[in-house]
Amino acid sequence: MKLLLSPSSSLKSGPGAAMMTAKLLLRGRRSQHQHHRVVRRIPVLVSTSSSGSNTFSDNECDCGFCPSWGMRMIKPPLSFNRIQQQQQSRYSSSSSSSSTKSSSNDDSLYERKKLSSIEPPTVAKELVEYLNKSWTAFHATKNAEELLKKAGFVKLDEDKSWSSSSSNSNSNPPLKPNGKYYVVRNQSCIVAFCLGGEYVPGDGFHIIAAHTDSPCPKLKPVSKRKERAGCIGVGVQPYGGGLWHTWFDRDLSVAGRVLLKKNDGRVQSELVKIERPIVRIPSLAIHLDREINQSGFKPNLETNFAPILATAIKAELEGFNNNRENKNKDANNDNSSSSSGGETMHHPIILAILAEELKCEPEDIIDFELNVCDTQKSQIGGATNEFIFSGRLDNLCSSFCALKALIDASKDSSLKKHKGARAIALFDNEEVGSVSTSGGGGTVMIEAIKRATLSSNSSNSSNSSGGESDVIEQCLAKSFLVSADMAHAIHPNYTEKHEEQHQPLFHKGVVVKHNANQRYATTALTAYMFRECAKLSGIPTQEFVVKNDMGCGSTIGPIVSAQTGIRTVDVGVPQLSMHSVREMMGTEDVDICHKHFLAFYENIAKVDANVQMSS
Ligand SMILES: [Zn+2]
Repeated sequence: MKLLLSPSSSLKSGPGAAMMTAKLLLRGRRSQHQHHRVVRRIPVLVSTSSSGSNTFSDNECDCGFCPSWGMRMIKPPLSFNRIQQQQQSRYSSSSSSSSTKSSSNDDSLYERKKLSSIEPPTVAKELVEYLNKSWTAFHATKNAEELLKKAGFVKLDEDKSWSSSSSNSNSNPPLKPNGKYYVVRNQSCIVAFCLGGEYVPGDGFHIIAAHTDSPCPKLKPVSKRKERAGCIGVGVQPYGGGLWHTWFDRDLSVAGRVLLKKNDGRVQSELVKIERPIVRIPSLAIHLDREINQSGFKPNLETNFAPILATAIKAELEGFNNNRENKNKDANNDNSSSSSGGETMHHPIILAILAEELKCEPEDIIDFELNVCDTQKSQIGGATNEFIFSGRLDNLCSSFCALKALIDASKDSSLKKHKGARAIALFDNEEVGSVSTSGGGGTVMIEAIKRATLSSNSSNSSNSSGGESDVIEQCLAKSFLVSADMAHAIHPNYTEKHEEQHQPLFHKGVVVKHNANQRYATTALTAYMFRECAKLSGIPTQEFVVKNDMGCGSTIGPIVSAQTGIRTVDVGVPQLSMHSVREMMGTEDVDICHKHFLAFYENIAKVDANVQMSS
């Protein structure tokens, strides 16, 4: 079986072409892991004949999947004939290894083994790893920072000078072309960028923006609750628009940041993540509410939603008897004397757990910001290993793809010749409207752009920009922002919820989101430019608009574009169960998104140069 498709033919619009591209992407994928395992000095298949002769070129792998792939000029995601040969060799070798392991010639058994060993894209596995480490926006930011540091990005402190002419020895390192930098704000938001080799002040920033936060219950400022029915509960408040019923009967824990008083009097903020399930929100038995399946599950978030931490009797037996003295008092009326956390605000068991994890004393804990989190690990699933089951896919999938694409693009040789900057902005607080210091409605991104531009301007006052006073405005007018947030794949059990011409599917490309009422910032021009970047690399895209009889969600896109004037497109990877404690998406979609974002960095300047707006 041989199927060849030229990159240009895969670019034709229409569902048939998109389906073909998706199938080819999938077929190619199967061979990936085998390729990496077997080949050390990596062969590049150059023959298109069925004999599949191999030749060795450099030590570089040209398979289209290796991590180094993104370091070079972007290419069509797959060279399809080569992929097919790889696939054939994979199947022939897995067939022989299967027969050596088992003497059975049972075809159905062989098929089952083959399915279970299908390898998802490497980038999807990396995303799962990132998700498992990133239970909160704080952790997502920290983990992003670590990956950036490893890739050579340098931290810039917001409270120090960015001016290259600063005589202050305590200032940030001077910004230079080909340099890579990042800024963190509130431990929950990160802006990173790399300057092109031919960057001059006033050049545009090509930005992919996403968000690090997800809906979850958060512990209340006074989380200690009155003992009820012999149980100790934890007071929580809902953050964002979660599908709250999905949080019932899950094995939950807490994670976030804790303020600690150190011996020398300093106050330090440390991240914490309790891996074991320490809390649970039990549902009410069907026997006590027999109408629930007909009338719907409508929990009262104040009274029915408090997680149980322990029984009072066990807590007392273990020496945590603080609750006893408050037994008949409402804890909410008992916080007047507390200004520094401690046992008047939170149950001593919570403090003890945190202290154990942070290797400190409970008295050292001043306060904390803790999310309730699901302890079930994110994982690859589905009969053919084609899904990711996880919390926080919205929007850590976009965050991770943006991060990885920037890191890859920062190593790409094309950066040396690039005029402009490549950037990401991973904001906090999108789920609650983005209006915060670390949200998309805040100043963190625009300040980074301004300071980078002005810093370079002051150091390059003799160059072509000549230290012009309106370099910021020039830069913003030349910039382009991809607002990346997850999209709704059509749900096979609720197909009527999608408009019939706009039904995003798994494995068919990043979704471009449109809304006439500006809930998304997409325009015909920005949609074209984003699509065109993908098209030049043979990557499919899809379109979405909400039905007229339904409300439309929104993103950081309209907020950031209105504040900055930067041309913006709203896009997202299709997923199901959005805002559930456990969401679902396709592994191939991670790969497609990552490649599309790389193609964006690679192609956007070229695409932009060909766009003319007549006034
Ligand atoms: Zn989102």
